[in-house]
Amino acid sequence: TTAMAKSKYEYVRHFELDDRCLPNSWIVVRIDGKGFHRFTNEHSFEKPNDAPALELMTRAARDVVDLFRPDLVLAYGQSDEYSFVFRRQTTVYRRRASKLMSQVVSQFSSSYVFHWPSVMGARALRQPPTFDGRVVLYPTDRNLRDYLSWRQADCHINNPLQHGLLGAGQPRRSHQRSGTAEERLRHTLAADKNEILFSEFGINYNDEPALYRKGTVIVRSLETPGEQDSKLSSDTGAPDGSTVPASEGARTDQKPVGVVKVLNCDIIGDEFWNEHSSVLSG
Ligand code: ATP
Ligand code: ATP
Ligand code: MG
Ligand code: MG
Ligand code: MG
Ligand code: MG
Repeated sequence: TTAMAKSKYEYVRHFELDDRCLPNSWIVVRIDGKGFHRFTNEHSFEKPNDAPALELMTRAARDVVDLFRPDLVLAYGQSDEYSFVFRRQTTVYRRRASKLMSQVVSQFSSSYVFHWPSVMGARALRQPPTFDGRVVLYPTDRNLRDYLSWRQADCHINNPLQHGLLGAGQPRRSHQRSGTAEERLRHTLAADKNEILFSEFGINYNDEPALYRKGTVIVRSLETPGEQDSKLSSDTGAPDGSTVPASEGARTDQKPVGVVKVLNCDIIGDEFWNEHSSVLSG
């Protein structure tokens, strides 16, 4: 009978092991484009920063934030990657790592393809892009902030390097053309890279858009309206404007969702965290 068949086979259920994330720790899911060096070339991305492509990443990330609202409190993206931070106490999917990670990466990939035509315009999508995903737990607020600082520093370090490698500016001293600048930039600290870029390529890195220098932060802010229009918002280089009400379509049985803000600001210093204190406390 069916009942007997069920009891006979059901033992295989127990092969599915418990992969719940440690309680009371920050859950970070990072996704990264697979083979995007090639993908971006095949789709004629402007180098080193294709602005519509970065907007598309953020469009997809917003869908992930919406999917997990209000448990996803912050997302940070640059290049072909995005990191998603779940609040410490989240119980979504019972904190099961594979559920969280697969749902994030699937929503992101699906939304990336879905929004491609409207964001990328005439450029046709020639192959299905894929992303990998990983889960990392951070036990302390400092660990979480250091993680995000690490990703933002990566953005900061890679951008001048890529400018130099691609010769985005015209070398001012002909004898330093070709491999010399590349070699020098590779072994130089970020601050010195800026100096080399300026003196030898005529690029003032600080004049580059904040979107390229800082990457993109998507943050759910529970701060009161008065605090929302602080000076941080003036650094908002959001592709689509600035703040977006997250309450639209939100279920009323949930906690306050606040507003979702898209910013291109520093997240290494204390200012961002003071302005958005609910991220760590909520
Ligand atoms: P992997 O599969 O190991 O991640 P990858 O080729 O994706 O390989 P990454 O280290 O992730 O390697 O680098 C991402 C690549 O995509 C870089 O070459 C970067 O310049 C390019 N890229 C990502 N986003 C953009 C963008 N918006 N505009 C131009 N190039 C981009
Ligand atoms: P969850 O997010 O928990 O998976 P779910 O709604 O996807 O929720 P499932 O247990 O996965 O629940 O069930 C899948 C549902 O989709 C069922 O209701 C099933 O009848 C329906 N479904 C799936 N494939 C088809 C199909 N090809 N034709 C008609 N209905 C389908
Ligand atoms: Mg990689
Ligand atoms: Mg990649
Ligand atoms: Mg990458
Ligand atoms: Mg299902």
